[in-house]
Amino acid sequence: MASVYDRHVDLDGFMEGVKKRNPGQTEFIQAVQEVAQDVFDFIEDKEAYHSAQILRRIAEPDRVVSFRVCWEDDNHNIRVQRGWRVQNNNAIGPYKGGIRFHPSVTESVLKFLAFEQTFKNSLTGLPMGGGKGGSNFNPKGKSDSEVMRFCQSFMTELYRHIGPDTDVPAGDIGVGGREIGYMFGQYKRITNRWEGVLTGKALEYGGSQMRPEATGYGAVYFLRNMLKHQSKDIEGHTTVISGSGNVATHAAEKIVELGGKVLTLSDSDGFVHDPDGFSQDKIDWVKELKTKRRGRISEYCDEFKSATFHGDGARPWNVKADLALPCATQNELNEDEAKALVDNGVIAVSEGANMPTTLDGIKVFHDAHIMYGPGKAANAGGVAVSGLEMSQNAERISWNNERLGSMLTELMEGIHEKCVEYGSQGSDGYVDYVKGANIAGFKKVADAMLAFGVV
Ligand code: GLU
Repeated sequence: MASVYDRHVDLDGFMEGVKKRNPGQTEFIQAVQEVAQDVFDFIEDKEAYHSAQILRRIAEPDRVVSFRVCWEDDNHNIRVQRGWRVQNNNAIGPYKGGIRFHPSVTESVLKFLAFEQTFKNSLTGLPMGGGKGGSNFNPKGKSDSEVMRFCQSFMTELYRHIGPDTDVPAGDIGVGGREIGYMFGQYKRITNRWEGVLTGKALEYGGSQMRPEATGYGAVYFLRNMLKHQSKDIEGHTTVISGSGNVATHAAEKIVELGGKVLTLSDSDGFVHDPDGFSQDKIDWVKELKTKRRGRISEYCDEFKSATFHGDGARPWNVKADLALPCATQNELNEDEAKALVDNGVIAVSEGANMPTTLDGIKVFHDAHIMYGPGKAANAGGVAVSGLEMSQNAERISWNNERLGSMLTELMEGIHEKCVEYGSQGSDGYVDYVKGANIAGFKKVADAMLAFGVV
């Protein structure tokens, strides 16, 4: 068997090493596997990448910081959570990526997200490295005061590892405007510095126009670019969407604006199916439910009688539709669900979430030649506008909504073009977007690393 030091170790040997070094970290191993198979093809005849062990180095985070987060709940119980910041790679810019608060957060989940983020950020064309952080803290059911105390405690450790030119966190699942506000306030209090250390801030204190909309709108722009490449359009098509948070509701809004029909939204309890479609008014109602009242998606059916709720954590992939936008979380669309979508005639899938489709599910889409935009390309609009928030903070100016809207549209077109450049297959116009995104994302980071020598 080839040794891990053999510069020509094959894909199986490489993955064996990854598994051995990261025991039990299934999400991280899955993310590396998905990238490695494409990168191995690409670097086959490129000796420089082999001899410098570039992929091996990208798949080893620069550092993983793990820390204890203590806080006091409203009943005066002392609670202990674990916090992390994974700084995966800063070859092309400061570490950049969100913070996730969810009970499912583990070191493996954050390592997979930081790894994905490295390629995603590279694809945007902006100077951002890859990082991710978070905690197994569950904000669901917590009071505002509890969330504030947790965020302050979390930042009291995190602040020493981040900075506007070092590492710039943002939101992710469980971290929205409220949490960013509490964390930014604590960073400012500890350091006595006002600086663009977090993105996703509110407009009043250095946030960017278009940042809340950017991930969802961007995923729909990516979908539109894929469809256009095949001379198709969103108008008149039905769409299934999972999730009901910031990404899902903004994706739904953009689909409706472009003349499509949205049939479903979901949360961890199940999904709602509204055969009449979600109008802008209905989407606004869901936004209010989720951000202000912090309620459950099943409540939608009490308000809108046309809809039905499917509980027990059911997912919407068996509902017949032309387009699918998984916008909830990782591994929420498996092989059987991918088959159900294909059997029901889906033509394109664009991922608003990070790694929502399992490796077996991706294979189903590829084999059926479905247009499939992986998260690292399709949901890059969010972090791209975060990059623009960093630029505005550094220049101490704010650009208007119109300017940021057209920058987002252009950025998503640029990402689509890179995927086509590296992912086009054969003569029938089919594009392997996974391969395109992996290779284009890898190449920029790898070339920067080659320039630095062995560091
Ligand atoms: N959490 C988002 C993502 O997965 C945004 C990260 C950011 O804006 O830094 O890309």
